Amino acid sequence: MEGIKGKAILGRVAVGKLFYYKKEKRQVRRVGDADPGTELHRYEDAVRAAEQELLGLYEKACREVGEVNAAVFEVHRMMLTDEDYRDSVVNIIEGQRVNAEYAVAVTGDNFQKLFSSMEDEYFKARAADVKDVSDRLHRILSGQEESHGLLEPVILMAKDLAPSETVQLDKKKLLGFVTEQGSLNSHTAILARTMNIPALVGVPVREEWDGHMAAIDGETGTLYVDPDPETLALLEEKQACAEEKRRLLLELKDKDDVTLDGKRIKLYGNIGSVADVAAVLRYNAAGIGLFRSEFLYLEKNTYPTEEEQFAVYKQVAEMMAGREVIIRTLDIGADKQAEYFALGHEENPALGYRAIRICLTKPEIFKTQLRAIYRASAFGTISVMFPMVASVWEVKRAKELAAEVRGELESHGIPFGSVSLGIMIETPAAAVISDRLAREVDFFSIGTNDLIQYTLAVDRQNERLEEFYDPHHEAVLRLIEYVVRSGHTAGCSVGICGELGADTALTERFLRMGVDELSVSPAFLLEVRERIRGTDLR
Ligand code: PEP
Ligand code: MG
Repeated sequence: MEGIKGKAILGRVAVGKLFYYKKEKRQVRRVGDADPGTELHRYEDAVRAAEQELLGLYEKACREVGEVNAAVFEVHRMMLTDEDYRDSVVNIIEGQRVNAEYAVAVTGDNFQKLFSSMEDEYFKARAADVKDVSDRLHRILSGQEESHGLLEPVILMAKDLAPSETVQLDKKKLLGFVTEQGSLNSHTAILARTMNIPALVGVPVREEWDGHMAAIDGETGTLYVDPDPETLALLEEKQACAEEKRRLLLELKDKDDVTLDGKRIKLYGNIGSVADVAAVLRYNAAGIGLFRSEFLYLEKNTYPTEEEQFAVYKQVAEMMAGREVIIRTLDIGADKQAEYFALGHEENPALGYRAIRICLTKPEIFKTQLRAIYRASAFGTISVMFPMVASVWEVKRAKELAAEVRGELESHGIPFGSVSLGIMIETPAAAVISDRLAREVDFFSIGTNDLIQYTLAVDRQNERLEEFYDPHHEAVLRLIEYVVRSGHTAGCSVGICGELGADTALTERFLRMGVDELSVSPAFLLEVRERIRGTDLR
């Protein structure tokens, strides 16, 4: 048995078989003097096999995420039989007498470049689809299996997992995961917490462990490979203790979030998808304080349409049945990359083209999202907040675009509800000018994950800097206190939706500052409720 130390994202135990997740790199071999007849045959067979795969994926997606979200696989099926694409492959095979793999790869690259260079956002977005379709054909032609589907419940290990890969994993088969890279504050870690999945980072993973039994001890941050019966028994005991604690906490499930001296606090949940709403409801949170809408974009190979987004926001609003749902507009960029955005390489992505900066420079994408949000607001209580604000003009511009969207909806007779507008306070600039910003909006939500990284100049993604990423740093706490004060002076309510909101060592301090709302991963709702109910502010 080997016990390897890492850092735990969630204090939970998982036991299961290890699965090594390897990122495929496409190697294209050019074989000259190939027989065109044979290669054309191979190509046609591969197209048929790809069609079958896509049909299977479409049906699975329809069952799991609904028809609207499954439509992308239909688009891919159509691309497979697109005449221009086919003509190009056939031409290369016949003209250059090369293998089908090479013809598909060259065609895929050419079409991808062509789409990327187009002005129209819709066609630009098709570049990622063409790449996906070509990769699928290439994989089938090279006789490889599809790799990221999990066939059975496993503990997944990987060198690194991007947020976009994490969202695409089949959660029902994911017992836990272990990665070598990645920090406790990365979005992959936040996703694991939101989905309540035991996970460790900083574990030097080895491919030869693939298929071995393993256990994650989230309390000590240890991965046991081939655990012996005593260790397993010990972990089972820990699991039982945790269950018991959970059971006791569950008694708080329907209790009010009121301090001992009678102050009511809004305890909200953070979500990244519709699937997370169930946990928010189970623990009876009063609302959703952060819907990280960008995960909708990360799950896909192209921009989600207005209809697709509308369906999701409407569903969340309806499920929350009148309780507030705060949708954070698109916060793509930095560690949350979607290929089809083609954001390009940046020296300092955390200081780069991200969140509101993308929304304000690509208003058509922003307005599509705002339209979907406003339309969904007719079905519940929806608020909107903008991420990564640093200046007053950004908020003014975002509000103008929101007003344009409302005007357009009105002129088409499309109903929408009354939507409160807020901003995230997650840059030191926004915190320092929060008195000015408060005049522009209805509420603030403090994003401590980024506020800490930007205030302390410590990259939240860099696992080597974890000891410097000090969430309790006096500078951070003073900024939070100042934001609460300036928000309240201008009549703005103030919440915290970063991970620090779930830090029960600070709950009392936050409540004394006057924080109105704490929004936390659903897994932490009951612990925070317990702390609120035990706090006396007199
Ligand atoms: C934050 O920065 O605290 C926050 C809630 O946003 P995210 O973690 O998604 O950047
Ligand atoms: Mg943030």
